[in-house]
Amino acid sequence: MKIKRILLYILLVLFIIPSSVASERPYVLLISLDGFRWDFINRGLSPNIQWIAENGVEAISLEPVFPTKTFPTHYSIVTGMYAENHGMISNSFIDQETGERFGLRNRDMVENAKYYQGEAIWETLRRNGIITASYFWPGSEINIEYRRPHHYHQYDHDRPHLDRIEGVIEWLQLPEENRPRFLTLYFSDVDSEGHQTGPYSDEINETIVLVDSLMGILLDRLEDIDMLDKLNIILVSDHGFTEVTSDRVIELQHILDDYDVVTDGVGPVVMIKPDNPEDIEPIYLRLREEEENYKVYLKEEMPAYWHYSAHAYIMPILVVADIGWSLSPWQYNPARGYFATGGNHGYDNKHIDMHGIFYAIGPAFRPGYRTGTIRSIDIYPLIMEIFGLKPRSGIDGDLNNIRFLLKE
Ligand SMILES: [Zn+2]
Repeated sequence: MKIKRILLYILLVLFIIPSSVASERPYVLLISLDGFRWDFINRGLSPNIQWIAENGVEAISLEPVFPTKTFPTHYSIVTGMYAENHGMISNSFIDQETGERFGLRNRDMVENAKYYQGEAIWETLRRNGIITASYFWPGSEINIEYRRPHHYHQYDHDRPHLDRIEGVIEWLQLPEENRPRFLTLYFSDVDSEGHQTGPYSDEINETIVLVDSLMGILLDRLEDIDMLDKLNIILVSDHGFTEVTSDRVIELQHILDDYDVVTDGVGPVVMIKPDNPEDIEPIYLRLREEEENYKVYLKEEMPAYWHYSAHAYIMPILVVADIGWSLSPWQYNPARGYFATGGNHGYDNKHIDMHGIFYAIGPAFRPGYRTGTIRSIDIYPLIMEIFGLKPRSGIDGDLNNIRFLLKE
């Protein structure tokens, strides 16, 4: 099956596509395997993903934005912006205007357009008259129609894998006037297992096998409907994973209990906002005094490469654990210690454990091309280039960093 697919692919790419598709609008399918770390492909457990990587473009890793959490990183992929500019600054944060907490399980929040300050790929394509579809992606369910993909689904964590694949297959068979040219597809399995058992467990290896088999089914189904040769497939993940253990927990309550503060986050990153702004300095200094296995920053003094200062929702003090360590704003309770066992992500986006994957194959991409680390913010301009459109102005990504992945 695999050999047959490769031969068919080579035949189509070399001889048939250049003449027939050149004048047609391209297709792009953007797939995310949540939490699939850059090196998981090296375990020899994923022949279908390897097929994409070996015959298309294979980047050593994909560098996500900081913080390396699912919502900010996914939204950066589709907007080409850093978190401080698109506003989705974490999976959970406090709206500093209303005092309300944004959370992934709050449907009103997840759909509220005001929290998504970037322009996603589907919005730009819609403006240019291109049909779009999303089988799940952060930001795809916004409560303003023109900011959503034409076809989309409300997120359902338990939606069966094959329903998602068939959903994409059905969209690709719609009549031309409704058929999407840009689609997304999302699987959360590796992330869920990575949190439970970490990046080195037997269970995570089984999950790698599972998601790889899904990619195999997808490729077969695309072949069935005669789309495999026409589609540009970009396979990414939003972040990697590192192992965490409950003997590497840093408690902060002995400092924070002396002040009236609001905190946000546990594990890799904790933000702190004192009720009284005069407490910012003393809290910061005490955290600095004890600084071990973490770093503390004032909002204005963040490492420049994080691009994590500008947004109003970012609190005045940020504490970031060293890789593998976990922060607890309250006394650590192992019974509630889910964040300090198994695996976690959210740390410094330059740390290689936090890096995800980037593999791409299709008529637009160079075949058999290997490259170093790609930045996730450059994917938006890349996809615009495939569609022959100018990226929106004001984004952080740069086509010049990534254009070389495309055929001349
Ligand atoms: Zn994730």
